[in-house]
Amino acid sequence: MVTMKGSWKLLTVFDIDIELHISFLLLLPLVLFFDWLFSVVLFVLFTSIVAHELTHALIAKREGIEVKRIILLPIGGMAVMSESKLSAFDEFRMAIAGPMFNLVFCTLIALGVWAFGIPIYDLAGWNMVLDTEAAVPFIPFLVSSYFWLNWLLGVFNLFIPAIPLDGGRVFRSVLAMGMKYVDATRIATRVSRIVTVFLFLFAFLTYNLILMVISVFIWLGSAAEMEFALSDELLTGVPLANVIRTNYLLVDDDDSIDMVVEDMITSRSLVALIELDGHIGTTSLYDIRHVPKSKWKTTKIGRVARKLRPISMSHSIMDALKKMNKDQVDALPVTYKHKLKGVVFRDDILKVFEILKVVNA
Ligand SMILES: [Zn+2]
Repeated sequence: MVTMKGSWKLLTVFDIDIELHISFLLLLPLVLFFDWLFSVVLFVLFTSIVAHELTHALIAKREGIEVKRIILLPIGGMAVMSESKLSAFDEFRMAIAGPMFNLVFCTLIALGVWAFGIPIYDLAGWNMVLDTEAAVPFIPFLVSSYFWLNWLLGVFNLFIPAIPLDGGRVFRSVLAMGMKYVDATRIATRVSRIVTVFLFLFAFLTYNLILMVISVFIWLGSAAEMEFALSDELLTGVPLANVIRTNYLLVDDDDSIDMVVEDMITSRSLVALIELDGHIGTTSLYDIRHVPKSKWKTTKIGRVARKLRPISMSHSIMDALKKMNKDQVDALPVTYKHKLKGVVFRDDILKVFEILKVVNA
């Protein structure tokens, strides 16, 4: 089944869904074009990446962080977790766990090879087999692939100090043990940019297209890390009471989508609230987009609106933002002693963030 994010669920391990991203279809012609060695290498690479990501995920789960899924992309894996700021020591443990798995696995292979006398290729030999597509015995090639690809994954992830790679997270967590999280992230992001420029140049000069793509992702990823750290720093101190709205668009659950869109335009509101069998529900453009336009006249808004669990007034706007991201909504009802006091909108939080960024620059 294709999920909302465009990936296929392959299997579930320890309650975590392992999903293959749709961009893997791009690799399909390559598999047909190359011989069986290439397929073996792909299989080895992705089982190793899954094990690497699972190690991160299992440590995260032990810290009480919700791990939603692991997505496999052609350039590597990604564990999707709930947004939580970890203590520096916990981040250190979680980041180092993945590459440590690869390096420990390498050591075990080396011991096994030595104990059972399996011949394996050195790095140059393994590369040459791949380049020349030589006819080779299966077991030594498979074992060599597991050894060298895990060595590569372990070293690349651990020793390149660019966030969001594991090495960058380890670096940030060590810094964060002696300073504020946001300052540690700022330094780690600057180092990442320098490292990424060199990584990109190296990839360019060696015609390594995959490494070039990875460099771009690291650059974008480090910017996102900085945004998150900064929002956490600036928004955690702002009480919800400062941003709630008491005038909001309230629609009837019997209204058609057509009518609600009309109301949204006249009130210039991206979100509408709705009474939904005793609960407060919300609907936004996000929900409406999923209904074909031809059905807007006949579909009642109550069918696409979602029930919301309210947030208590005692929280900060950062808590509200995290909750919105988790529930994939753009507004939350705010209550005080179980009574509805108003609504907080994602838009308003982002505006406050933009202002605070300027004030604190
Ligand atoms: Zn990792």
